[in-house]
Amino acid sequence: MSAGLNIAQQDAVNHLGGPCLVLAGAGSGKTRVITHKIGKLVQAGLEAKRIAAITFTNKAAAEMRERAKALIGKPAKDVLICTFHALGVRLLRQDGAVLGLKQQFSILDTDDITSILKDCGATSDTATARQWQWAISAWKSAGLNAAEALAQATNDNERHIAVLMGRYEERLSAYQSVDFDDLISLPLKLLRDHAEVREKWQKQMGHVLVDEYQDTNATQYELLKLLVGERARFTAVGDDDQSIYGWRGATLDNLKRLPQDFPELRVIKLEQNYRSTSAILRAANNVIGPNPKLFPKTLWSDLGEGEPVRVVDADHEDHEAERAVARIQSLRANSSHKEFKDFAILYRANHQARPFETALRRAQIPYKVSGGQSFFDRAEIKDLCAWLRLITNNDDDPAFMRAVTTPKRGIGHTTLQALGNFASQYKLSLFESLFSHSLPSAVSARAVGGLHEFGRYLNELEHRARHTLGTEAARTFLNDWLKDIGYEKHLYDAEDSEKLAAARWNNVLEFCDWMAGRCGGEVDESTGIADERKSMLEVVQTIALISTLSEREQDQNVVTLSTLHASKGLEWPHVTLVGVNEGLLPFKLDDADNDLSAEALAQRLQEERRLMYVGITRAQRTLAVSWLKRRKKGRETVPGTPSRFIKEMALDQTTIKEDPREKLKALRAEFAQRAQAAAAADKP
Ligand code: ATP
Ligand code: MG
Repeated sequence: MSAGLNIAQQDAVNHLGGPCLVLAGAGSGKTRVITHKIGKLVQAGLEAKRIAAITFTNKAAAEMRERAKALIGKPAKDVLICTFHALGVRLLRQDGAVLGLKQQFSILDTDDITSILKDCGATSDTATARQWQWAISAWKSAGLNAAEALAQATNDNERHIAVLMGRYEERLSAYQSVDFDDLISLPLKLLRDHAEVREKWQKQMGHVLVDEYQDTNATQYELLKLLVGERARFTAVGDDDQSIYGWRGATLDNLKRLPQDFPELRVIKLEQNYRSTSAILRAANNVIGPNPKLFPKTLWSDLGEGEPVRVVDADHEDHEAERAVARIQSLRANSSHKEFKDFAILYRANHQARPFETALRRAQIPYKVSGGQSFFDRAEIKDLCAWLRLITNNDDDPAFMRAVTTPKRGIGHTTLQALGNFASQYKLSLFESLFSHSLPSAVSARAVGGLHEFGRYLNELEHRARHTLGTEAARTFLNDWLKDIGYEKHLYDAEDSEKLAAARWNNVLEFCDWMAGRCGGEVDESTGIADERKSMLEVVQTIALISTLSEREQDQNVVTLSTLHASKGLEWPHVTLVGVNEGLLPFKLDDADNDLSAEALAQRLQEERRLMYVGITRAQRTLAVSWLKRRKKGRETVPGTPSRFIKEMALDQTTIKEDPREKLKALRAEFAQRAQAAAAADKP
């Protein structure tokens, strides 16, 4: 497992007996160390299922699984490669009963949570509910419960939210549901308060590896400590200069605490960057330079000086998009990395994607927006997930409400309201209420009939899902179910445009395909190995965690549009950073936050600087940075100033202004290429 590793990387891979921290800059091969170390551990005789590798996103997990498979083959399948949240789910499914959680609990998404909070706080204002959600989440990720939050609240608003948090927690436990923060805090509680569970897991975990360690928060660190126990067999890799989730509670204290909490910690630094040219690396080092140094490091590359970093000034958003697309066309004509997947356009905030989408479409260049609306956020997919959630967890009231009304089944608003009142009066879930003897006292005889029928159908579905194993059976199950509830017709009735309805139905079919695939049993042609078959019910239990169909998207040959945050850990030959303006990157430090202390402001600026550093270091061969001379701010257009980071990149000698004639040249080259391809296609 030492092929393709330098000496320091080999050191990290071979240190198996105790705690190890790899602290190194971008592109120095930290993630590579983790993958190779998985291989090394298996080779050294540790059972694959006793290895856990924790990544920051599901996508990163899928990628690591692929790499591990290429390295060690079949055993890679048994390694637990997942995010902290998915690990939390596993802990809770296995041992959550100790906390009174049934095995088939539901995981709520943001919309569910907002609507529960609206209900708890008697408001219909989504923005307010979102604010509450944000505050509650911050408390939870700092490890506070409602009572503790109340005790430390400093003003009426905070006290009010802390009280709401209490009600919210009661609801969640009644619904047998958890939110994303619970996926870390409940396992933590489980391991902290229950010695027998803790010992079992510590025995089970032969080695734990954590990527992007700098972005763990306090509760994740505690969870890691409890998982590895006294033996402390773990490997964490990270880069303090890439900590960009401070706003979500991630803390660099975790990096500082590691050597204190584990005195025998082996710290390894990597200094060679294998990703970027010297010109790109120099710009990155210059930008991060002004930040205080937690752990000083020098990063160098022997990939040569490379192309100078370009600075592009655009008149406005659409102009910026046009230029970014022209750059892609020109590089495709002139560079050896010319596949669409070699290009990325990165920006600070999601809403900045729109002009680039339009320009790419116009140029007929395929792209994907990562970190944007996920497949699972689409209404039709949420409908189906609500049904599936409900059959795994009957107590999931938000899922019940969605399923019983989609498609409509003649159970009206009045009946549902009466059912809701009845359920809360008798402290039952909506589903349980269906079968209560006293139900006829609350709703009309006709409604009782409809409700009973719904309940019976759910029971039948659950029974079938439990006994549905493998891809083919899953397909039949899903087909029958959609037919039973008339979902296709529902879509066509709901949409005015037939085209839109068809697109939504296509999403449904894609979802079914994907679900069926997850039920397994199919033979992988390349390896001849059949996936383990899983029951529909088992698969359904995991869907709430998967936020994108990332496994499928991976190989697509398309240009990536992404937020800087979502670009972490990834790399592309050609990168364009756009909207590098004061007020965008760094994000408005001054106007909205007048009340921030000088210290808080300085910290915000440091995090913005790290974000810029992350962006620059995604580029392998060429990098362009563009800024807007005029930019939209709400409904207005205001003059734009280049970000201070552009100056700080100190590109003076190497900056090239874009030549407008270049675009023409690129278009000509593209045209010639197409003509050539067309001519070739014509030949017999
Ligand atoms: P980031 O901080 O951005 O997450 P990283 O430190 O995790 O970066 P990797 O993604 O592991 O870095 O590696 C960056 C690139 O360098 C990858 O393409 C990887 O394959 C390559 N690389 C890493 N180490 C070596 C090596 N010893 N020899 C050749 N290529 C290497
Ligand atoms: Mg990495």
